[in-house]
Amino acid sequence: MAEGVRTTCPYCGTGCGVVASRARDGWAVGGDPEHPANHGRLCSKGAALPDVLGTEGRLLRPTVDGETVGWPAAIAAVASRLRAVVEESGPDAVAFYVSGQLLTEDYYVANKLLKGFIGSPHIDTNSRLCMASTVAGHKRAFGADVVPGCYEDLDEAELIVLVGSNLAWCHPILHRRVRAARDRGARLVVIDPRRSATCDDADLHLALKPGSDVALFNGLLAELDRRGRLDRAWAAGFTRGLEATLEAARAEATDLAAVAAACDLPLDALEGFCELLAGTPRTVTLFSQGVNQSSSGSDKVNAILNLHLATGRIGRPGMGPFSVTGQPNAMGGREVGGLANQLAAHMDPDDPDDLDRLRRFWRAPNLRGGQGLKALELFEAVAARRIRALWIAGTNPAVSLPEAETVRAALAACPLVVVSDVTADSDTARFADILLPAAAWSEKDGTVTNSERRISRQRGFRAPPGEARPDWWIFAQVGRALGYGRAFAWRHPSEIFREHARLSAFENGGSRAFDIGGLADLSRAAYDALEPVQWPFAKGGAPTARLFATGGFFTPDGWARLVPLRRSEPKERPSFVFPLLANSGRYRDQWHSMTRTGLAARLAGHRPEPLVELHPRDAARLGLADGSLAHIESRHGAAVMRVAASEAQRPGEVFLPIHWTDAYASRAVVGRLVAGHRDPLSGQPESKHTPVRLRPF
Ligand code: SF4
Repeated sequence: MAEGVRTTCPYCGTGCGVVASRARDGWAVGGDPEHPANHGRLCSKGAALPDVLGTEGRLLRPTVDGETVGWPAAIAAVASRLRAVVEESGPDAVAFYVSGQLLTEDYYVANKLLKGFIGSPHIDTNSRLCMASTVAGHKRAFGADVVPGCYEDLDEAELIVLVGSNLAWCHPILHRRVRAARDRGARLVVIDPRRSATCDDADLHLALKPGSDVALFNGLLAELDRRGRLDRAWAAGFTRGLEATLEAARAEATDLAAVAAACDLPLDALEGFCELLAGTPRTVTLFSQGVNQSSSGSDKVNAILNLHLATGRIGRPGMGPFSVTGQPNAMGGREVGGLANQLAAHMDPDDPDDLDRLRRFWRAPNLRGGQGLKALELFEAVAARRIRALWIAGTNPAVSLPEAETVRAALAACPLVVVSDVTADSDTARFADILLPAAAWSEKDGTVTNSERRISRQRGFRAPPGEARPDWWIFAQVGRALGYGRAFAWRHPSEIFREHARLSAFENGGSRAFDIGGLADLSRAAYDALEPVQWPFAKGGAPTARLFATGGFFTPDGWARLVPLRRSEPKERPSFVFPLLANSGRYRDQWHSMTRTGLAARLAGHRPEPLVELHPRDAARLGLADGSLAHIESRHGAAVMRVAASEAQRPGEVFLPIHWTDAYASRAVVGRLVAGHRDPLSGQPESKHTPVRLRPF
């Protein structure tokens, strides 16, 4: 057993185990050799965690209207102002916007408070920007939001296909696992318009035209059928919709040459990929934000799932579609109903039986059901003054949401903005009427769920500074101040986890995928000692690594659904006025808006400033010398970044990093440029397809 406190990294959805131990000058961290996600390894961000434990920039005390106050006054102010909004405008005028950074216990309490007791369905999370299209795709195909496989599948696969994922930078430890598989003989194909660092290890890189993923996967599906490489027996036994899906796929492209033309790919490369795919049943297709962040993100997800269902490559070792989440607890948020179109424990806000079930379990007469407003709609409702009280927890929408200027205007006009966060001066905190200091990683206890459905403990090992408190405690205190005391009486996160686990098993009977009834009776000591565990884990059962090898989907009839798809174009195309197409994403050593990683000097060395990357021919044509500054403009806003000419970019396309904010006086807020176009099913914004123009600054 490793010496020190075993906890979980607070960054990406890989969910690596971390061991923190006392060092002479503070704390040291290392990878947890016993954690199955990382087996002792950490990437640069995880390794730099000791550097971000200081109190620099921390919010240390509650403030109300700019005045520092104690917790009793702050909680009373939040409760009385929320109550006033409800009395004047009804519960629907209250909304929460929360975060994949929260622990599951925090998330659970926020949901219970707003949906169950205040009576508003309008809680959404920044996971809307991250995973919502996958959630919608999973539910259409499987009847539930479930990742069918596990990380061991990467070790067992003979072909790994990465779609819209710069895994080497965004999930480095998973990428090391992929590289190890490749060293053992597996083939690696990367599908991404950009030649990212991940492509350095690939056998094949398909730099497809942005937005053409559905055309590609439809074309591959039809071609595998022509070659007799579908598993028709498996599909006939466990799925519905194969023939209609094939018909739709064939209608789009008659042969691979037509697919290559639609996707702007070299035919020989596409043929090579198809050959590999046809001959390699042990295939994992791993996908991420390049798929999700699109106005047709749900269809892109289902195009990938269709291929796996039609070939029976699911739920068996080395086979399956695999969504990797961006955030440390995007999955945990989904488990407790953190998205506006979910209820707790994978229940459905439009299902009267689920509503009745949850109302009885929580003893929550105010739970009304119906879908709440998804992130962009929610901020539009703030702008329209339909939402009059907004509580933002652990996220920075003034930077991260599309049309960031519109979001800022909405926040400025909102009668009540409460912000609970660890950071005193984020771009969003500047709009707060009430600021509540939250405890950070290393200071609080709870659980997170990683991309393979594995629940791991985050364990506190230091006292929070100043007056900072865990988010669950803050939400629960407000619940008590509003008069809902009995329902918010927890004294420790283990009690919240137990309630969450019991709810997952409550009148479940195998009908809902999320069941952790096997953890419903954990004592506090057992919770403290909890080892990483995958769900489903029903009472009397065992943790489940893989699902669906022999059916058992969560649709009403238990059969999976293939979804007939036609490709749809991104909402905006480059034009005469905005002739370049901007993609956006992460750098290897930074995280979100850098409120934490920005504190670690060693992480700044990789990319100390934001760069606009574009093809050297475009740079020359626009008079932009490598290293000069460029003014970048879209229909919605402008930014300034230094030019990096790079043949990794397709001509006509640029790449922008998402991390810099006004708090860094950078003039490089990508959210200002991006339009609010969104997927109609998932509500996820199209963050990777923004027409822009560039000129020397
Ligand atoms: Fe943390 Fe992700 Fe790096 Fe693992 S791969 S150490 S979870 S940032």
